[in-house]
Amino acid sequence: MKMKDETKCLHAGYHPKNSEPRVVPIVQSTTYVYDSTAEVASVFDEPTKSLIYSRFANPTVMAVEEKIAELEGGVAAMCTSSGQAANLMAILNICKAGDSFISTSEIYGGTINLFSFTLKKLGIECIFVSTDDDEETIDKAFKPNTKAVFGETIANPALTVLDIEKFAKAAHKHNVPLIIDNTFATPILCKPIEFGCDIVTHSTTKYMDGHAVQGGGVIVDSGNFDWSSGNFPELTEPDESYHGIVYTEVYGKAAYIIKARMQLMRDFGAYPAAHSAFLLNLGLETLAVRMKAYCENALTVANYLKNHEMVESVSYPGLEGDKYNELATKYLKGSSGVISFVIKGGRETAMKFMDSLKLASNEVHVADIRTCVLHPASETHRQLTDEQLVAAGINAGMVRFSVGLENIDDILEDVEQAFNAAKENA
Ligand SMILES: *Cc1c(COP(=O)(O)O)cnc(C)c1O
Repeated sequence: MKMKDETKCLHAGYHPKNSEPRVVPIVQSTTYVYDSTAEVASVFDEPTKSLIYSRFANPTVMAVEEKIAELEGGVAAMCTSSGQAANLMAILNICKAGDSFISTSEIYGGTINLFSFTLKKLGIECIFVSTDDDEETIDKAFKPNTKAVFGETIANPALTVLDIEKFAKAAHKHNVPLIIDNTFATPILCKPIEFGCDIVTHSTTKYMDGHAVQGGGVIVDSGNFDWSSGNFPELTEPDESYHGIVYTEVYGKAAYIIKARMQLMRDFGAYPAAHSAFLLNLGLETLAVRMKAYCENALTVANYLKNHEMVESVSYPGLEGDKYNELATKYLKGSSGVISFVIKGGRETAMKFMDSLKLASNEVHVADIRTCVLHPASETHRQLTDEQLVAAGINAGMVRFSVGLENIDDILEDVEQAFNAAKENA
């Protein structure tokens, strides 16, 4: 049966048979038993055939992996213990010391750190381009050792919208895959694979979990990328660490994601616990319903902010007149619940406004079911230099406002009284 998103959220990934539990069970076991050593040996030969150990795979997590793969329209997925681990492994699966990859600079602050410092220490260079760069400029950024292109569908917190087709074209011209972090859009608002993206990643900590209970990440393989150009010998030539297996020959369309599991998950072990996957699944069950409601509330708040005297500028791709409105119309079915705006009066007023909010909470989180706010310049992005702040699209007076699912009147009333308090103190 070809299911729609709302149905997939509830039913994909788990199909109980006669008398089995209706709800995805928590398989709280690190290991699995076999009748003979020969059978265990055969599972080691072919680890995807059956379960070995919960560092690679676990039935509760696998149900979630299948659900997310179906929602994104990919062939398979692998969950990780955080969004950071997902992006790290997505890159490491195809880049090694001496390689480079291209990323837009309008990405999550933690990812900027990972790409520009930690991966650099491992000998992998990240070449940054702007999401707004034209095809020619992006094309010039490629080097002979470039192995991937990376961007975020809706950037956190810059709220730029990625021109997916532009970046897919640039990547494919050089025979490398396009990897997109689809955290803010979720597959409900955008399915990057439909526009030519090859690998999708997520921090499931955000909308997918949705309730601020569980950190996690996921990598989804579209199965569409052709690895045979000679650029990716690790996929097309024998893997010594797995008795000479050739991923593209044995696993075909799922070569990338199975290699990630067999090598990277085996060696790094950033696999989520069964209980974490159970909680994530609960969030996923309502994802389609929640995303629509976030978008509706956020658009109302964005329009209110746009007309407010204390607001210098508002970024919300769904807003008419927003710089990214055209791309949002093309690629998104809604612009999520995240808005950023610059308050008049800069850093000081921004902090006063935030401290005066009563309903919205001041926390290092985004995409929660409850409305929350954050000051990127002094919180998530404080490790960045002023230059990197500008490149990431961040102003010192910028407030990142993550609209939740409270009644819209209550959210607006809270914002209004906080503006008043900030004005009096200004
Ligand atoms: C939060 C976030 C991450 C990192 O995810 P964690 O789950 O916090 O490790 C990566 N990308 C984006 C777009 C994010 O918002």
